Amino acid sequence: MNCHICNAYKHEKILLDNERFFVIEAKTKKGHNKRYMICSKSHVKHDPTDVYDVLEAVGMAYQLFEEDFVVFNGVFASIKEHEHFIASDRHFEEEVVDITKEPRIEVFLKRKND
Ligand SMILES: [Zn+2]
Repeated sequence: MNCHICNAYKHEKILLDNERFFVIEAKTKKGHNKRYMICSKSHVKHDPTDVYDVLEAVGMAYQLFEEDFVVFNGVFASIKEHEHFIASDRHFEEEVVDITKEPRIEVFLKRKND
């Protein structure tokens, strides 16, 4: 199958892996220090309204960040045929797309010293 995300699971470095999702580094960082793709393992069409999957993605992102982060639910995703989310830090200055229009979950991590 000629799917970018299915191929990525076979060939790219997997940063996190569980029963349903895996994480790879996003190729384009768009001005962020950290930007990841959190992808379903099954080749299923993206459903941005699936709350269970959004929460799963947030949970995985939580393991990747030590700073505040954002999970985008992929309404503007270029790959629609394979469910995935984008997680990035909150440095938005260089984002090309107007991400303020994209539905997202922002997570503010409370540090021990705060
Ligand atoms: Zn796929």
